[in-house]
Amino acid sequence: MRVAVLGAGVAGLVCAYRLAQEGHVCDVYERWPGLGGQAATLDVGGGDLLERYYHHLFTSDRHMVALYEELGMDGELEWHPSSMAFFLDGRQWAFNGPLDLLRFGPLSPPARLRMGLAVLLLQKRAKHVESFESITARAWIEKRMGRGPWRKVWGPLLRGKFGERAEDISMAWLWSKLTLRRQLEGDEARQEQLGYPSHSWELLFDALRDAIVGAGGRVLIDRPAAALRRDGDCGLFVSAGAAGSFRAGHDPRGFERGGGAGERYDAVVATVPSDVFTALLDDDLAAAVGPDYLGRLHATEYHTALCLLLELDRRFSPFYWTNIADPELPFVGLVEHTNLISPERYGGRRFLYVANYLAPGDPLLSLDPDELLAAYLSGLRKVQPDFSEDWIRARWLHREPAAQPIVTVGYHRRIPPLQTGVPGLVLANTTQIYPEDRGTNYSVRLGTDAARALLHGN
Ligand SMILES: Cc1cc2nc3c(=O)[nH]c(=O)nc-3n(C[C@H](O)[C@H](O)[C@H](O)COP(=O)(O)OP(=O)(O)OC[C@H]3O[C@@H](n4cnc5c(N)ncnc54)[C@H](O)[C@@H]3O)c2cc1C
Repeated sequence: MRVAVLGAGVAGLVCAYRLAQEGHVCDVYERWPGLGGQAATLDVGGGDLLERYYHHLFTSDRHMVALYEELGMDGELEWHPSSMAFFLDGRQWAFNGPLDLLRFGPLSPPARLRMGLAVLLLQKRAKHVESFESITARAWIEKRMGRGPWRKVWGPLLRGKFGERAEDISMAWLWSKLTLRRQLEGDEARQEQLGYPSHSWELLFDALRDAIVGAGGRVLIDRPAAALRRDGDCGLFVSAGAAGSFRAGHDPRGFERGGGAGERYDAVVATVPSDVFTALLDDDLAAAVGPDYLGRLHATEYHTALCLLLELDRRFSPFYWTNIADPELPFVGLVEHTNLISPERYGGRRFLYVANYLAPGDPLLSLDPDELLAAYLSGLRKVQPDFSEDWIRARWLHREPAAQPIVTVGYHRRIPPLQTGVPGLVLANTTQIYPEDRGTNYSVRLGTDAARALLHGN
């Protein structure tokens, strides 16, 4: 078959790679002028590549680890001890294990114990998601841990990621976060280990691209899909957008066309966000997909990631990851990459990501890097009182509209299947990753599942 894969993120590249392994020829269309989607890198100068958005792996990310092995690149993955903190009540509190919980001042001693026990019991006993699908995280936490932990810890964390939707988030989402990511036995019980490739994620994307091209396909960056239509009863046409379309935003209806009537394919696998997918369909294809499927796509809600990457001339704090649980601060996390990976790898340069997740239309999303920095400065100084703008050597700002699907109660009933109902048209995006929180590891699985759905119908 000739297959068009829309999107060269992890899911799209893996899907095309799997199809190529089965002897099919794939053209991968990508809007961004680079590979990797949400895990794409940027050149921060001096030949150093860094992800636009902070990225690491958990030891439970077995699909990604297996992919590295399969490609003969297992030497690339390195594991480093993580260090995590919460910022609240005016300071960072280390939060790496049971001892830190016992010293966690913002909660009363009985509340600390109750919270620790509830998490432990969940990790040891709650093996299936079903019992958490019809209750909100808030209701579960208040019942099992008490109101203090919701008010001081979990409420601010969920508000950071989901804003006004925090109270509606399903316990299924939190269950997966708390139970799936970390080994409870062995060394990791004491200190979490996180993975990072020794040359950034880029080499993985290059290897996948080379395999797709080696099998006769093409990987077309800065060449988005602008429209999709049927070719009679079988076959689909992809019309491409012109080079530079990424500057026009995410909605393909705003792209200038860049290639005549389009190219015909036997099948299409779309790994683009749900709203982009619906915008690609002409009326005939939308009718063929049908109202039930489209209704599921229209019901999808995403929050935007807004990520400011700062190069600093010194260390910001002792932690790799700081969750901001103080609602006064206008960002939700600080990820100091060079506290996980030694700054020596970057010639002594240090990098700090200031992370945010925001509802569409939030005023912070319209600020330029200088304006955003100005809005963040006093918050950054609350965490590190010595911090000044003089520490900053360079900065980069990225926005990802479809970064975080909003997983509310009953979410599993609204997930669109991979098969759209139109023969040869498959959709595979992060909204279908469940119950796990989306991540590169699960997009490896999703890409493989999408190829199987196309070839074998399941
Ligand atoms: C701030 C942030 C931090 C993260 N941290 C981690 C982490 O630490 N560890 C981890 O494992 N995961 C992390 N993730 C999640 C992870 O990056 C994603 O879950 C994963 O990369 C999704 O891959 P995907 O291929 O399914 O989707 P995407 O990466 O979203 O790929 C979809 C692709 O489609 C392209 N596209 C869009 N429109 C069109 C069009 N019209 N035509 C063609 N192409 C189009 C997009 O440009 C994109 O490349 C993070 C994400 C964010 C935003």
